[in-house]
Amino acid sequence: MNPVLRREYLTALGLESWVVRGKSAQAAAPRELIAPVETPAARTRAAPPDPLSPQEAARPRDTGVSRGDSTAREAGFDWAELKARVAACTRCALCNTRTQTVFGVGSPTAQWLIVGEAPGADEDRQGEPFVGRAGQLLNSMLRAIGLAREQVYIANVLKCRPPGNRDPAAGEASECLPYLEQQIALLKPKIMLAVGRIASQNLLRTDLTLGRLRRQVHAFGASQVPLVVTYHPAYLLRTPADKRKAWEDLKFAREVCARV
Ligand code: SF4
Repeated sequence: MNPVLRREYLTALGLESWVVRGKSAQAAAPRELIAPVETPAARTRAAPPDPLSPQEAARPRDTGVSRGDSTAREAGFDWAELKARVAACTRCALCNTRTQTVFGVGSPTAQWLIVGEAPGADEDRQGEPFVGRAGQLLNSMLRAIGLAREQVYIANVLKCRPPGNRDPAAGEASECLPYLEQQIALLKPKIMLAVGRIASQNLLRTDLTLGRLRRQVHAFGASQVPLVVTYHPAYLLRTPADKRKAWEDLKFAREVCARV
């Protein structure tokens, strides 16, 4: 990417002071990012390979998640059929309070799949994920790693807005996840980027904190799609000091994608 343009995007993220540190900081980042983080799956490994090896960092880590049980519910439906099924869905009580379902948006041939938690008020009104200020920040984050919004696919774990933007209930997430799983089966993304704690925990079926899930490559589902975790743009708007960590996550994900 044009360095001037890239700096403009990073400035939009509030990261201009970091960029001045130059190439040495960028070169050092991947090594810092692949410090071993103990997860349930990692704990079961008898002799883990060298975590400082770039090859090892890019290798998907199986978190023990098996999704063969629920994926079958929506298996076989194409994009149009799946979207119609979501629009008509009454599988949980959120159907009573939504303005409309928020299926997802983007290129059906995208290599990157961005997954958030659930629609908010703006998304519920417009029927598109990640609009409003959080959406604008997500767009800037993507542009910072050379991706236009139109080049990726963006979806949420839940297709309907929880009232008051509360966290999704466990039953709501489990009812809705098969839709996302079929989206993933149709898309066959090269990499998934889970944004925020709720999306990450639901996709990985864990209660580990976001801090424990960052900086490693997880593997999603039977197809073992590499999955990287980062902060939700709405959180970053409230906590701009963590934008640097998000930038590290994005660079890490880009490196992983390049190695897949
Ligand atoms: S949140 Fe998902 S499962 Fe619940 S009504 Fe909406 S589409 Fe159906």
